[in-house]
Amino acid sequence: MTIPTNTEHSEPRTLFIGGGWQSASSGAIRKIISPADGRLTSTVSEASADDTVRAISAARASFDAGVWSAVPAKDRGDFLLRVARRLQERREEFARMESADTGKRIIESRLDMNDVISCFTYYGHLADQNPGRIVDAGDGTINSRIVYEPTGVCGLITPWNYPLLQASWKMAPALAAGCSFILKPAELTPSTSILMMDVFDELGLPPGVANLITGTGTESGAPLSLHPDIDLISFTGGLVTGRIIAANAAQTVKKVTLELGGKNPNVIFADADFYAAVDNALNGAFVHAGQVCSAGARLIVHESIAEEFVDELVRRAEGIRLGGPYDEDAEIGPLISADHLAKVDAYVKQGIAEGARLRTGGRAATEEDGTGLSNGHFYLPTVLDRVERGTTAVVKEAFGPTVTVETFATEDEAVEIANDTIYGLAGAVWTKDAGTAQRVAGRLRHGTIWINDFHPYLPQAEWGGFGQSGVGRELGTTGLAEYQEAKHIYQNTEPSVTGWFANRT
Ligand code: NAD
Repeated sequence: MTIPTNTEHSEPRTLFIGGGWQSASSGAIRKIISPADGRLTSTVSEASADDTVRAISAARASFDAGVWSAVPAKDRGDFLLRVARRLQERREEFARMESADTGKRIIESRLDMNDVISCFTYYGHLADQNPGRIVDAGDGTINSRIVYEPTGVCGLITPWNYPLLQASWKMAPALAAGCSFILKPAELTPSTSILMMDVFDELGLPPGVANLITGTGTESGAPLSLHPDIDLISFTGGLVTGRIIAANAAQTVKKVTLELGGKNPNVIFADADFYAAVDNALNGAFVHAGQVCSAGARLIVHESIAEEFVDELVRRAEGIRLGGPYDEDAEIGPLISADHLAKVDAYVKQGIAEGARLRTGGRAATEEDGTGLSNGHFYLPTVLDRVERGTTAVVKEAFGPTVTVETFATEDEAVEIANDTIYGLAGAVWTKDAGTAQRVAGRLRHGTIWINDFHPYLPQAEWGGFGQSGVGRELGTTGLAEYQEAKHIYQNTEPSVTGWFANRT
């Protein structure tokens, strides 16, 4: 089917509710603009709170009718595997839409699509793997077992940096578990979520199981965390929004999963493979212009190699090419919006004002830095050296192409600096010494620790944060369990009088 999102359509219908495409009840629309060149990508419906409530009703009705929740887990898994195959066939179309909305290089969008496909494949295979367990009640007359049931209706709220990938980490396990859901993608990047609903529809997912609301967080997203018919809210985004959502969700005691920000340490010991560590420090900090929750934004380098390390890092950072999705020489793309660029720039300026030494970058790109860059929101890779502990630069998440440098003398000091954050999403340690690597990995209070690497993740391995990086886990078996309720069924096969109360008959 054709989804009417394109610019020629006067009233886009991008809300997918109860199995049908609808426009916003208010008639409101939003123009999606490419952050790489300022061109119009598409026009989508801007949902109101009322639209969201209609989507919640559709999801609730589908869940209560059992059109998906009562489907055998094996069949749900097979459906996910068909989704994965269809995404493989439509991969290029999806990748182009992702690049249009985010401005990221097409090669990155293709890789993101591979990860989306892996996620659906993983949960497709996992769907029927845990039928529950028998509990030994210690007495032959009792049948006791645990079954895992779908949690119910889920509100899924996602950010703009990896739009479909973050959504797939939620949609795939939700569907595997038998839940119905309403997806609310970031207002700046809705296009691949719209295409995704088309795939579900095309493959015959029953109406009302997957619903999509395109619109802002405060208007169309907020009802998801407040409405009594939502059983679970799974949110990926910023810390401030996460706190609001958790507080809202508490009013009806919803299950809550939060994947929030990070201020991720990358610890380099003196014996690390120097060039591999520099290269991965660059990768950790600047991939996708640093708009990555697990970005290695804090370099913590042994004092004996710090000067040489930072010199090489700066030399490499100055060689990074910026450009739009189809610039084959480009290595990183733009920031998502002018507002976001202003935030990143203010963070850098604040860091400098608080004593950091700017080694390179520290400003938006101009035409002199590359053709066409001034049409988009490009920011130069930025290195802030000699950063003091406790200052803004090492405390606040920048979510841009910036990296700070701190130094350490001892292993204890390295661990202390690395853990000195309210966040706890990810971190890395670089050393050739296996003992040091394991000791430090064990002491870092972060949800993922890389040893001699940065950034890889696996759909089979849990992802999530310690501290204020979040609540709960995505991916892995825990990522499925988040969408399930464990129920204990206890059967007495030989009922008898308890004798607890006096017999008054
Ligand atoms: P954001 O918090 O501004 O927005 C995220 C989503 O929440 C959007 O869909 C937005 O519309 C919605 N939203 C905003 N206010 C809302 C409200 N009151 N009620 C309901 N929904 C609301 O975050 P962002 O700027 O889109 O994303 C960047 C942030 O996401 C960064 O902090 C980054 O670290 C984090 N992130 C974390 C992970 C992870 O796995 N931990 C992954 C990607 C991004």
